[in-house]
Amino acid sequence: MGDANTREDGQDTVDQGVGEGQAKRVEIRGDGEGDARRPEASLRFRSAPSPNRGGVCRIPGDVRGIVLHSTEGSLEGALRTFAMQGGVSAHYAIDRDGTVVGIVPEGDVAFHVAAFGNRPALNRRRPAWLVQYDGRFSAVNACTVGIELVGFARTGFTEAQYSALGAMCAGIAMRWGFPADADRVVTHASLQMDRSDPGDAFDWDALWGAVRIASPGGIGGWSEGDREIVEVVRALGADASGVRGWIERLGAYEASSKSGALEDRA
Ligand SMILES: [Zn+2]
Repeated sequence: MGDANTREDGQDTVDQGVGEGQAKRVEIRGDGEGDARRPEASLRFRSAPSPNRGGVCRIPGDVRGIVLHSTEGSLEGALRTFAMQGGVSAHYAIDRDGTVVGIVPEGDVAFHVAAFGNRPALNRRRPAWLVQYDGRFSAVNACTVGIELVGFARTGFTEAQYSALGAMCAGIAMRWGFPADADRVVTHASLQMDRSDPGDAFDWDALWGAVRIASPGGIGGWSEGDREIVEVVRALGADASGVRGWIERLGAYEASSKSGALEDRA
């Protein structure tokens, strides 16, 4: 479940101090409806925006991993929690039938892990890719996408959820340029002392199987074209608005909100 981030609110956006105008030269491919380059193309989306977000625009390189959670209750209950001002959030929730709910855009920070913030007693295992705590967000929140699986750690999750989760992990990893593997896809429990989600019943084989099916070039092995997009955008160090456009064109959450506001998308 999402987790209180003991932060001082800051409205600063990420400033990479980079040149402007170059983003125009990038030819972004793979933003079409049903495009094979988007592993999530066949998923059903709806959105339930949360006010609990950092107000930043993360650019390629900022997002380095994915944290898995379980809601330990219904989707409705989780969304009520995420809607409460000043509380917690995640980027996505995946319902029992595989429907993906977009809660916070991937480019923004969600508040789903308290470890590696200003309460070191909560810290468990520190992944090598984790950034330093910057005082505004817990380090984990700053550089991950949080996904909530609707259900209970004790009883586990459905086939439809693994299938959707695999596609989401593949898509997120592709957009942000890291491998969808056991190093980068981690559990809340692995990071934080007082959490155990998504639990021992979580079926890793089912997840990796689904990631493999959804990945055009295999796990972490994107095609040259996909790799090129990520590398070009990263090398540009383009201005935030240009990169925001890139994220919006490829992002599942943004794509779903653009194409049909709050409706389901087949
Ligand atoms: Zn959690």
